[in-house]
Amino acid sequence: ALNERESLFVVSEFAKKYFHDVLLKTDEGLAIGHSYFKERGFTEETIKTFQLGYSPDQWDAFTKEALAKGYQLEFLEKSGLTIVKDDKTFDRFKGRVMFPIQSMSGRVLGFGGRILTNDKKAAKYLNSPESDIYHKSKVLYGIFHAKQEIASKDNCYLVEGYTDVIQMHQAGIKNVVASSGTALTPDQIRLINRLTKNITVLFDGDAAGMRASLRGIDLILEAGMNVRVCTFRDGDDPDSFARKTPIDELQSYLKENAIDFIRFKANLLMKDAGNDPIKKADVIRDIVVSISKVPDHIQREVYVQECASIMDISEDVLFSTLAQIGKKEL
Ligand code: ATP
Ligand code: MN
Ligand code: MN
Ligand code: MN
Repeated sequence: ALNERESLFVVSEFAKKYFHDVLLKTDEGLAIGHSYFKERGFTEETIKTFQLGYSPDQWDAFTKEALAKGYQLEFLEKSGLTIVKDDKTFDRFKGRVMFPIQSMSGRVLGFGGRILTNDKKAAKYLNSPESDIYHKSKVLYGIFHAKQEIASKDNCYLVEGYTDVIQMHQAGIKNVVASSGTALTPDQIRLINRLTKNITVLFDGDAAGMRASLRGIDLILEAGMNVRVCTFRDGDDPDSFARKTPIDELQSYLKENAIDFIRFKANLLMKDAGNDPIKKADVIRDIVVSISKVPDHIQREVYVQECASIMDISEDVLFSTLAQIGKKEL
């Protein structure tokens, strides 16, 4: 219901302020949360812009405060901020630094919380559960702070994590959003598509994660968008790379290393396949599937030419495979 959504917005807004105040105004918040962000190189301005916070390392400090301020347990629970179990209440994000997730218009929809210990058994990041206002598949972290720059630069950088968005924004590159650890969904693509037709995907420097993401990118091609990708060396992600690289160098790195997605994929997979004919055949089919997603037939033709040369195979074979795939999908 409408009132229910409104109540969830109100509770989330309160929580955002509470966690932010705890970070900046309490001994525990300053000693633990704030110093963590400082160690990561975040400035005061960045902490304020992204309304970063800290949730006290106590069982129900947040919940107690919210109830005392008159917020109803029903909505604290529905927002996922409070967990109710056997008539006891627990703070979901206890002891974590907090990243509020905002809508395109700046409303707080949910949170990501990062653990500060090295406990390998606990999840590094915890997110709000799905609610009437938080639909993981429909939000992009950072979109509120990025939308203007995405439109004016006519390009959107897509990164994996919260800290990648924040570090790049702080470095001066503001047209950046994160899918927060999941493959991009059609709804997320539509959000970007309203602002630009150009996406540059910045992969973390771990090869496994990158290979797993390749298929998901076909969805962006299907939307008729132009996709480029850029990778980082030595296990860097956009956060760690942006942090150690002067802005001019960062800008030129992104410019010089962003390459067309289909070209990138064809080269990468051909390298993987080596001299094995069966693997090579699989790669060719895989690339043709990606090409088949491109709505513009002139672009498809250009890709066929390019991939024929990368994969050392005739254009005719690629065109006939393309035609076969087209038939199967009808
Ligand atoms: P950091 O630099 O803080 O260690 P990161 O953002 O580089 O984190 P990655 O491991 O690259 O983290 O993961 C990318 C994104 O995936 C995270 O920002 C987060 O949104 C999501 N994620 C990572 N680990 C988890 C997890 N255990 N549970 C849920 N989401 C996660
Ligand atoms: Mn990663
Ligand atoms: Mn990362
Ligand atoms: Mn990282």
